[in-house]
Amino acid sequence: MNDKSSDLIDQMLQDRRHIHRRPELGWTEFETTSYVANRLERLGIEYQLGIDFLDISSVQGRDEKLVNKAIERALEHGVPQSFIEKTGGYTGIVGILDTGNPGPTIAIRADLDAVPVQETSAAEHEAVKGNYVSEIPGVMHACGHDAHTAILLAVAEWSARNRERLSGKIKFVFQPAEEGVRGGLAVAAGGALDDVDEIVCFHIGSECKLGEVGICEGGYLATTKLNVSFEGAPAHAGSNPEAGKSALLAACNAATLIAGIPRHSGGLTRVCVGRLEAGESRNVIPAHARMEIETRGATSELDAFMVDHVKRIVRGTEAAFDVKAKIEIVGSAANLETDPDVLARLAKIAEKTDLVERTKFISFVPASEDCTWLIRRVREHGGKAGYFLFGCNHQGHHKGDFSIQDDKTLPAAFEILTRYLAERNAGD
Ligand SMILES: [Zn+2]
Repeated sequence: MNDKSSDLIDQMLQDRRHIHRRPELGWTEFETTSYVANRLERLGIEYQLGIDFLDISSVQGRDEKLVNKAIERALEHGVPQSFIEKTGGYTGIVGILDTGNPGPTIAIRADLDAVPVQETSAAEHEAVKGNYVSEIPGVMHACGHDAHTAILLAVAEWSARNRERLSGKIKFVFQPAEEGVRGGLAVAAGGALDDVDEIVCFHIGSECKLGEVGICEGGYLATTKLNVSFEGAPAHAGSNPEAGKSALLAACNAATLIAGIPRHSGGLTRVCVGRLEAGESRNVIPAHARMEIETRGATSELDAFMVDHVKRIVRGTEAAFDVKAKIEIVGSAANLETDPDVLARLAKIAEKTDLVERTKFISFVPASEDCTWLIRRVREHGGKAGYFLFGCNHQGHHKGDFSIQDDKTLPAAFEILTRYLAERNAGD
């Protein structure tokens, strides 16, 4: 049943390059969502927009100002006002293909967003050579989510073409805001995946080079992203310092205490105060401070141990310096848990795929991924999950020269996913 028709592969590469030109940050993927919606509509695949399937109260790290700016840009770039209205201001889209034949419900997830990185204009850069560099200053698909979206569109098209021969339902999940692990929780909490028997998630690059596929047994770390702000009271540093309450000193003390959180015998933990801004000027007791903090853990329990400590330290510092603190959770992910039978099936398929030279099992990836919320939700409802990496020769994600050799890498992932569906959703 595998449809290798070259027009589908050509279309996939065109889609990827089109999306690469128009990168959008998390929660602002209006052009990309509209692009996906148009395609699904043409394929006769019904869909739900973010507003319909996200749990809005679980949305993390969404910046209303950036959203409004992105809406303006999308309108200027031809996205109809009526479409923007339908989104209710929330990006993301889930396509649902019901074959009408009895069978399992399989979900495949891709992410839509780009990163705040300026793309290089170096002549040897793939996108420069191919004439598809980012048109949006300071924003780039430097993590390959443009590839993920294009692959899932091609898989959707393949599924629509093979509808008669497939069984069950297929859900194509185009998740917003993976960067900063902000979107996954709201997708999961919305319940759109509660009827899913199996979910397959994937990522380009990372621990795998061109020709390699990594079958991930686990290893992505649970994480929490926190913004903490302190508010004190200003005073002239010369005339009445005793009237001031220093938010700067509170934040500095919190930062050193956070670095001293004990490690846990139960497994790996991490903590980073990555940013601290404070103060107004030299002779004023600083009334404002702001910190960006992240914690990680091998399990959600270990991550929670770190977060609890951070919160306690912030509360303690608040009392010690007589300032007010605000803690905001702006992103989170669970650790990756998968199912051996799904992984074994993926591995077997990868091994049989011509474009894959080497298939390896991976048990640790020192990063985080918020599809882990989707996976957790599916598994909590009795479903199963798999995750794979497909390699490319890159010099590091989130860098201006990130390149993915799309003509070789995209067809490999497309083949693995469509073979998976052909096997799992085989009719009669
Ligand atoms: Zn990524």
